[in-house]
Amino acid sequence: MQFKQLKRWPLIAVFAALIGVSAATTTVLAASNTITVRANLLNVRLGPGLAYSVMGQVQNGTKLTVIKQQNSWDQVRLAGNKIGWVASWLVDQNEATTTTAKLATAKRTTNVRQYATTDAKILGTVNAGRQLKVIYQEGHWTQVAYDNTAAWVATSNITLSGNTVALAQPKQVSTTVKPQTTTVAAVKVTTTASVNLRQAGGLNAPIVAKLAKGTTLTVLDQSSDWYKVQTAAGKTGYVASWTVTTPGTKATKAATNLSEATIVLDPGHGGADSGALSTTNKYEKTYTLEMAKAIGSALQAQGANVIYTRSTDTFVDLAPRPAMATKAHADAFISIHFDSSANANEASGFTTYYYNSKKDLALAKALNQAFSSNLPLTNRGYQYGNFEVIRNNSQPAVLCEMGYINDDKDFAQIKSQNYQQQVASDVVQGLTAYFKAGNHQ
Ligand SMILES: [Zn+2]
Repeated sequence: MQFKQLKRWPLIAVFAALIGVSAATTTVLAASNTITVRANLLNVRLGPGLAYSVMGQVQNGTKLTVIKQQNSWDQVRLAGNKIGWVASWLVDQNEATTTTAKLATAKRTTNVRQYATTDAKILGTVNAGRQLKVIYQEGHWTQVAYDNTAAWVATSNITLSGNTVALAQPKQVSTTVKPQTTTVAAVKVTTTASVNLRQAGGLNAPIVAKLAKGTTLTVLDQSSDWYKVQTAAGKTGYVASWTVTTPGTKATKAATNLSEATIVLDPGHGGADSGALSTTNKYEKTYTLEMAKAIGSALQAQGANVIYTRSTDTFVDLAPRPAMATKAHADAFISIHFDSSANANEASGFTTYYYNSKKDLALAKALNQAFSSNLPLTNRGYQYGNFEVIRNNSQPAVLCEMGYINDDKDFAQIKSQNYQQQVASDVVQGLTAYFKAGNHQ
């Protein structure tokens, strides 16, 4: 997170700024909440989730104005007043840019969160009676100035006092709301029959034009089963989504690059289930967790959304592990294990297992190829493996045996941070290639 240092403006400057902008626009007194894109290329989608089609892409560093937030997705305004959604874990929330704040008091001990959802990261807590500066309120959530940034508290946890106060302003931030100049590559659809262009979404809406079969349209927005579209001649209206093709829809149901992907990492064993043993009686469960965390950090650094089936030394049964991948609509599930041979020091090397050749093989190949490039152990290749966590998995899934724990040479690598980091960067490399190739659905 990068936040500019907030500096308190002299009161006179705040008044001057207020007089200056009030003539131009009144919206500046409401919060102008902006975010900065930190993925290399960020998909802008028609709705808040990976299941929605991509309407365009924006570059790293682009600033976007947030309209609202929902389930870890930000609704943003783009050029031409287009509205789209971006994954909130791929953007940095910028400083608040309001000039006045209402004062409120916390009714009880209250969590202060990064975004307006109950699963958002807790930035801190405030005690009952603590005064807060309110920037913006939307329904159940209130945006407050907190620790030099803008954060959210539950509206029910605060009482507004009715007083206002000048809010500290970052010096670099202009108080005028600049028009967004973000441009996005538009999504096109083609009519599959002679189609009515209507004034609004719905079969009862007046028809504004008849479109011939094969007409290409630019999608401006989507509401339930209707696309708001623009014709080549610039006429806008609505068409039923079932009357047009949606090229690329299949590929856009899932992440199209690593930075937008949700990856479930599954450290094998845990708690009472210690897994296999090294010749020195060290537990497999210890190193599966260490390696998964190294991989997870490397993926998060690329902007991926990482979910662990366990992040501590706890017992997790087999069945709930793939269920987490289903629930999260994960783009990939990677289980980490270490092999063990019947007798110590008789087998060595790493193997990448897949179960379903249609669903998992491309992922297994991509990861195994990345592993083969630099790891100091023998590559035993990718193979079919009948393991429950990949067999009962609805998402692309692999199980990686990253060395033999009861082989002393392998174990020296398994426990080394160097090896764990190499594996982590290989997973990044492998997944990047996997998504780039577009070979998963
Ligand atoms: Zn294992």
